[in-house]
Amino acid sequence: MVSMNRRQFLKVSGTSLAGSSLALLGASPAPAMAEVRQFKLARMTETRNTCPYCSVACGLLMYGLGDGAKNAASSIVHIEGDPDHPVNRGTLCPKGAGLVDFIHSPNRLKQPEYRAPGSDTWEPISWDDALERIARLMKDDRDANFVSQTPEGRTVNRWLTTGMLAASATSNETAYITHKVARALGLLAFDNQARV
Ligand code: SF4
Repeated sequence: MVSMNRRQFLKVSGTSLAGSSLALLGASPAPAMAEVRQFKLARMTETRNTCPYCSVACGLLMYGLGDGAKNAASSIVHIEGDPDHPVNRGTLCPKGAGLVDFIHSPNRLKQPEYRAPGSDTWEPISWDDALERIARLMKDDRDANFVSQTPEGRTVNRWLTTGMLAASATSNETAYITHKVARALGLLAFDNQARV
């Protein structure tokens, strides 16, 4: 015969009673536990994206709170691998699996910054101002330094005084077009973040 004290008796009988009552009501543990998983992503907006970290470019599913209504503040609360993506088929490495912390990091850079010559301070600027400035500086430098022919008369059409470092987490199509733009300008110094 099993002996138990009063506290153990109350614990066992209470658990048994609760379990049998729930089973009678149709709430057995297995469906109840499965229900937790569904509830986690209920009423969320699902968005597809690409992991920004490395050249593998794994596909992501990002889940955001909020349904897009004007008074609903959206916030990404869960990220997992996209099972339909041909690169990673639902998997993520530890860096990709921690992306939700990267998104909410207070140190995350969300807009371009500019540091004037001689200054020790980075100033936030708009995307329009940043792109305008990049285009202006590239044009001026290319006009001044583009080499169409060598002194021996060989056609080279090259621009050696500016380089470009492109992002790696792109589709093949985006990478192809980026490459075309760089080479069409005559840039030879062209590399990719995948190698950084
Ligand atoms: S999840 Fe990992 S392997 Fe995949 S792109 Fe991100 S960093 Fe690279």
